[in-house]
Amino acid sequence: MIASMIENSRLWVYRAGAPVAGRYVLYWMQQAQRSRWNHALEWAADSAAACGLPLRVAFVLTDDFPGANARHYAFMLQGLTDVETALRQRGVAFSVHLDQPPAVIAELAAEAALLVGDVGYLRIQKQWREDVASRVRCPFTAVETDVVVPVAQVSDKAEYAARTIRPRIHRQLARYLQPFTPDEAAAGKQDRQTPWLTPPCQRPALSDLLVDTSVGVASGFPGGQEAASARLDRFIREQLPRYHTDRNDPANGICSDMSPYLHFGQISPLEIAWRVKASSAPAEAVEAYLEELIVRRELSMNSVHYRPDYDRYAMLPAWARQTLDRHRHDPREVVYTRQQLEQAATHDPYWNAAQMEMVATGKMHNYMRMYWGKKVIEWSAAPEAAFETLLHLNNKYEIDGRDANGFTGVAWCFGLHDRPWGERPIFGMVRYMAASGLARKFDIDGYVRSVRALVD
Ligand SMILES: Cc1cc2nc3c(=O)[nH]c(=O)nc-3n(C[C@H](O)[C@H](O)[C@H](O)COP(=O)(O)OP(=O)(O)OC[C@H]3O[C@@H](n4cnc5c(N)ncnc54)[C@H](O)[C@@H]3O)c2cc1C
Repeated sequence: MIASMIENSRLWVYRAGAPVAGRYVLYWMQQAQRSRWNHALEWAADSAAACGLPLRVAFVLTDDFPGANARHYAFMLQGLTDVETALRQRGVAFSVHLDQPPAVIAELAAEAALLVGDVGYLRIQKQWREDVASRVRCPFTAVETDVVVPVAQVSDKAEYAARTIRPRIHRQLARYLQPFTPDEAAAGKQDRQTPWLTPPCQRPALSDLLVDTSVGVASGFPGGQEAASARLDRFIREQLPRYHTDRNDPANGICSDMSPYLHFGQISPLEIAWRVKASSAPAEAVEAYLEELIVRRELSMNSVHYRPDYDRYAMLPAWARQTLDRHRHDPREVVYTRQQLEQAATHDPYWNAAQMEMVATGKMHNYMRMYWGKKVIEWSAAPEAAFETLLHLNNKYEIDGRDANGFTGVAWCFGLHDRPWGERPIFGMVRYMAASGLARKFDIDGYVRSVRALVD
């Protein structure tokens, strides 16, 4: 029983109690869109086996998820195909519904002995779970599977910076950074088949959805757990050994590209961490990668979980808002409209390349994201306007947008999780980044050329 490998601290109990009379155990898959290394799925499967009932898995697709467009939906639908295939092989019924999650899940849960969910930290995901909990009569537990260390285990408050959360995470890594690999063949035998539930999954197509189609599908990033796994293999083999030395250089593309897959839960951060740790890459490379994947990423989860206003300017630390306010009337050399920014029509070829990379591929290089954000502060009439523009562009074009990491990454540009630096115009004491720094450290013209080649 793999459920015995799941720490109780991963369980968020919404409605306690023993299973009630029902026809199945229902796993409401929402955040963790994968069949592998999924604690929620395995907890539900084991609960079903213990009750002698079949397992049913349901995913609910809304076509009005805040900020999502065809680029995001296409990626997600590709991922759901993989889930459907994998669950079919296990004999588990999987259905996808186009509607509002609370209504659908409440209806399906009316026949369930037990409802199991998974955990995302955004406001809407929390609201959905609360809403579901208020509508169902059976017990409802969500299982936290999209972080290495459960957020509440790390801290009970919004952490100040990476340096304050790092020791809290590291203290618990030996306990949580453990393999979670059920024998899939055995799992298939253990799952009770559900013949009466297995009409072929009616998975909506992109054309069935009323979504914004102005942003094209990002063809360089096929969605799904199979694509994620293949990409991770390649990264570990070919790039990880140089990650600690070369990851910041936009010209060389040393990065894992895991963020789109992590955003949709198509790969488990625990699986990535485990495979990276087990690799033969130099210890410095492994350490540098796990710092990003676990410490930085889980700092974002901590921030969004404990700051309900994570997408509002008012969430910034007081020192940052005060210093930006003191400099709000400083003259700007140039102010660009949102449209000019969106069209990459600034005077700065480096910034334009970053914007074009995001629009064309659905993923901007990590280091360029920082530069990109800082420049929009410099070129906006007010910091509040810059904050809104950045979130808008980030969430519209990045496949990994609308993520805890995106809200936190944008806020970092305004001083969140950072410290005051020397005072200067417009930014006050918020850290500044200059084009000359890019030119000094990297082959930034090489980066510009490579983006142009992609776009032309
Ligand atoms: C302005 C701005 C906006 C951002 N928007 C997003 C966003 O919308 N979605 C998103 O997932 N990330 C965002 N980030 C964080 C980071 O840039 C991306 O996670 C990273 O570039 C993803 O590429 P990768 O998977 O190839 O990274 P890798 O370098 O291979 O890192 C592996 C994983 O570590 C985590 N990670 C890496 N860098 C960071 C970081 N700085 N903060 C937190 N976690 C990190 C990510 O989960 C990433 O997938 C943003 C950062 C900034 C400064």
